[in-house]
Amino acid sequence: MQATSSNKKTRPARRRSSFKLRITVWITLLIAVVSSLGIGGILITGSQIADSRLQNELISTVERNVDEIEYKNGILEIENDFAFFVDEVYCNVFDSSGRYIDGESPAALINSENRKNGVVGTFETDGNKYYYYDTRLDFNKYEYEIDAFSGKIIKYEADTAMSGLSDPVYKSTEFRDGINSEKAIDIALEHAGLTRDEVSSLSVELPANADRTVFKVEFICSNSTYPPVWVRGFINADAAKSAFDAITMTVIYILPAFIIIAAVGAYLISRKTMKPVENICRSAHEITDGTDLSKRIEMEKSAGEIYTLAETFNDMLARLQTSFENEKQFTSDASHELRTPLAVIKAECEYALSDNASEEDMLEALSSIDEQTDKMTKLVTALLTLSRTEQGDKRYKLEDTDLSELVKKTCADFVPAKNITLTADIEDNIIIPAQAQLISLMLENLLSNAVKYGRDDGHIEVRLKKDNGIVLSVKDDGIGIKEEDLPKIWGRFYRADESRSRESGFGLGLSLVSQIAALHGGKVSASSVYGEGSEFTVTF
Ligand code: ADP
Repeated sequence: MQATSSNKKTRPARRRSSFKLRITVWITLLIAVVSSLGIGGILITGSQIADSRLQNELISTVERNVDEIEYKNGILEIENDFAFFVDEVYCNVFDSSGRYIDGESPAALINSENRKNGVVGTFETDGNKYYYYDTRLDFNKYEYEIDAFSGKIIKYEADTAMSGLSDPVYKSTEFRDGINSEKAIDIALEHAGLTRDEVSSLSVELPANADRTVFKVEFICSNSTYPPVWVRGFINADAAKSAFDAITMTVIYILPAFIIIAAVGAYLISRKTMKPVENICRSAHEITDGTDLSKRIEMEKSAGEIYTLAETFNDMLARLQTSFENEKQFTSDASHELRTPLAVIKAECEYALSDNASEEDMLEALSSIDEQTDKMTKLVTALLTLSRTEQGDKRYKLEDTDLSELVKKTCADFVPAKNITLTADIEDNIIIPAQAQLISLMLENLLSNAVKYGRDDGHIEVRLKKDNGIVLSVKDDGIGIKEEDLPKIWGRFYRADESRSRESGFGLGLSLVSQIAALHGGKVSASSVYGEGSEFTVTF
């Protein structure tokens, strides 16, 4: 036995720790997967972003330098502000046939060919990868901005080598309804002193996001006097990669440490979460191991769902306690009721068997024993019926029964004592699924109570009506029941004090009535005016 009980105690503890372990493993795995995916994603997109930022840096540096090159009086000049090496970008200038003019790139980069205007390409030398970007400078390019409403030239730029143009002229001509793109081109060409045949790459657009509504007209004069030059920029493509390699290595070292911290955290969380559950288990063990069902599990309201669980458990304990107490009370009451007649039988037997008992004494003793035996039989039969109805015994199968006839017959067979009259007002043809024997027993109990607690020459009225359900009632003009006793009379072995001294019932009659009514899906109720009479009602 001891081994069994110690097994019982260790098993839940093992289960608890494994559950905590499982929660810890799940949370750790989840954090590991999510963080790996997250960091992986960040590294991949990060390296792509860094790569494109590198290329943008290259393009913007080259384009900034373009403004620093111009022809002055027929001589190509690279201004001092030209950045040959800035922000890791090398810039070189080449002439139109690709010959190197100036720059600070490593030698290997200077000789590279394949120039494409405005395109980023890759180039590898000495195991290093570079991005390069070329831009071609044409010194015969014209750019105009012309107000789309007035036709005024707002701004123009022409390369100095070709220009020889006057400063921007704001024509006074007003276009009341605005100008179209063709008109804008005409205005620009007229200002440049060129015809459409003398220009190429003519373009006109109305930029959507400009702060003024202006046509942007661009063209290249075909008869160029000065050759174009190329500016090429380089940037080491591995610059971003090496930074990311460093970050990746750091992450590889940090991630396991991070996962270990997550596991410890997960274990602490699971331990904290499981603590109230462990408290419940401990309290439940204390309660079930001991015999005190009045103990309850203590739990803070802040425990949330666990508090609800503890409450449910406490409710269950309360019901168990009531049920055990009822059971205990019932057993003690039943034994008590049986002990009295048994004691009388024993005493009568001893008396009858004594030496000086006459024949008359013996007969008297026998008759008393007979009376007590009847009483015990009644009690045992009532207990048996109660227990069978409670358990829904199969022998009590409900069949369609003519309740009206059954009530009439039971009333007719009942012989009231005390000169009491019985009247019955019974509606015909009320048929319900019922167990005839039990219904009769129920009505007999109500009738015998009405007589037991009735007055001499009194009156009992039985009614059966179909009215919002089927209602069977038994009314008497007897001693009545005190208001405070009314809720208790349905309990087993309950007898109101006053009645206890008058008549000898067991206090089981009304329990049986309510049990039988419940078996038929019915409800019982009682109303009474103390000293004037009572009415018991069964509603099916
Ligand atoms: P008992 O065997 O004592 O009659 P019951 O369960 O039938 O047991 O009734 C329980 C108690 O209810 C009775 O002891 C009595 O006090 C009260 N009682 C029952 N019926 C009536 C009634 N018709 N008039 C007054 N009191 C009643």
